[in-house]
Amino acid sequence: MSRGDMAKPLLGHRSMEGDPSMTTAAGRTIGVLGSGDFARSLAIRLVCSGFKVVVGSRNPKRKAGLFPSTAEVTFQAEAVKKTDVIFVAVFREHYSTLCDLADVLVGKILVDVSNNTEINHHKESNAEYLASLFPACTVVKGFNVVSAWTLQSGARDGNKQVLICSNNQEAKRTVAEIAQVMGFTPVDMGCMSSAHEIENIPLRLLPAWKIPIFLALGLFLCFFTYNLIRQVIHPYIREQKNKLYKIPIEVVNTTLPCVAYVMLSLVYLPGVLAACLQLYYGTKYRRFPDWLDQWLQHRKQIGLLSFFCAALHAVYSLCLPMRRSHRYQLIETAVKQAVEKKMNIWVEEEVWRMEIYISVGIIALGLLSLLAITSLPSIANSLNWREFSFIQSTLGFIALVISTLHTLTYGWSRAFDENQYKFYLPPTYTLTLLVPCTVILAKVIFSLPCIQQRLLRIRRGWEKGRYVKFVLPSATGEYSSGETSSNV
Ligand code: NAP
Repeated sequence: MSRGDMAKPLLGHRSMEGDPSMTTAAGRTIGVLGSGDFARSLAIRLVCSGFKVVVGSRNPKRKAGLFPSTAEVTFQAEAVKKTDVIFVAVFREHYSTLCDLADVLVGKILVDVSNNTEINHHKESNAEYLASLFPACTVVKGFNVVSAWTLQSGARDGNKQVLICSNNQEAKRTVAEIAQVMGFTPVDMGCMSSAHEIENIPLRLLPAWKIPIFLALGLFLCFFTYNLIRQVIHPYIREQKNKLYKIPIEVVNTTLPCVAYVMLSLVYLPGVLAACLQLYYGTKYRRFPDWLDQWLQHRKQIGLLSFFCAALHAVYSLCLPMRRSHRYQLIETAVKQAVEKKMNIWVEEEVWRMEIYISVGIIALGLLSLLAITSLPSIANSLNWREFSFIQSTLGFIALVISTLHTLTYGWSRAFDENQYKFYLPPTYTLTLLVPCTVILAKVIFSLPCIQQRLLRIRRGWEKGRYVKFVLPSATGEYSSGETSSNV
């Protein structure tokens, strides 16, 4: 970004006029201690949002050129004197070097933006440590969850939330207002004891994805080994044929759809189990076991991984004819037919099977793409609850049924061919059908009117064996009251 661009406002003045608190926040002078990546991006964003910025550096002459021309770059003590709110864009290890500024910092708000390199690296959070060094200041933890890149590229392009915590409500409100004017969404995380948690957030590596990724890897490993035994090890042991070349594409490509299909069914299986438990206990107010709760919470990630595997399967399948081995096999078949003087090799059933197989596969992938797209927060937020549940629940279930058709047309009559049972192991697709077919069968049973009605009543708050007061009109038109079980 050129120095000229740095002065251009990112936010229109209209949004600031709407909220009176924002007009008071914008225009005030904000201090930034440090002149590194974060300090520079922060200063640019503050200037663009209408704030006056004063940067405190140990070497202002050298660093001034890095900042927008409208920002004042001066010595740390000078900068601190000119403002009441100071962002400390310095690493924790260097906090103690700021102690010389203690006198000029008295009564000021210090915003601790620091992160650690490891989760729970220090016993006390960085913000608490800063507060202990400067007891005459009010420390607010915030902005550490946004990166220097997000600050520069604008809140629209990255994480919008800024988590804030402090023991001082007034100071927290001031920092929240600044964040709002900068185009971020401040989130009140309570008092200073939350700083530890806020500092750990940027260090967590995909916490919601761990279980689904391990699940996908576990399934991949199981199916890969199974396919390897059937497609590579069996021909080697039985016919001394070297089929190792099949591993990179063929074995992987028979494994991926298995993982995708089973993962898709695992998105809908916890819902089925939850419904079974609700029917069994006759209430929705009993807590599900923890493992089921966890499973229900990870459905989105499991679904996205299923889509990922299905997409890879589609790409691998498109590449199958590119392989040398495939071309050799085609030529070999053609030569054999020429030698045997076979003129017509058209098998009507095979042609139909393939057409249907590919067609339903494409439809299933299309539906999975739709599910994946609508699970993105920006798209999901634009849908109302009914639209979201129709796509994720109804269309998702249809995707599972179509994937089952895809699998069945792939298998066709192979399950009844004894040559397909290598080492007595059934074809892989028959194994993958187990969970999805259970889910589909359960869904069909749940759609029977007697069960559906009961489930609907339970989900609206009805409980088995709970006695409720009722009021009935008598034959004479008078009302009589009594008690009955809501079962009736
Ligand atoms: P940086 O580029 O290394 O800048 C650190 C700055 O600290 C230096 O430019 C230096 O400025 C100043 N400083 C003051 N006293 C110092 C001392 N004794 N020794 C060395 N430097 C001293 O680091 P940064 O990436 O901007 O990060 C600054 C803080 O922001 C860190 O606490 C980091 O955890 C946090 N943060 C950074 C990001 C990011 O995306 N970079 C995101 C979130 C949070 P002067 O030489 O001008 O004094």
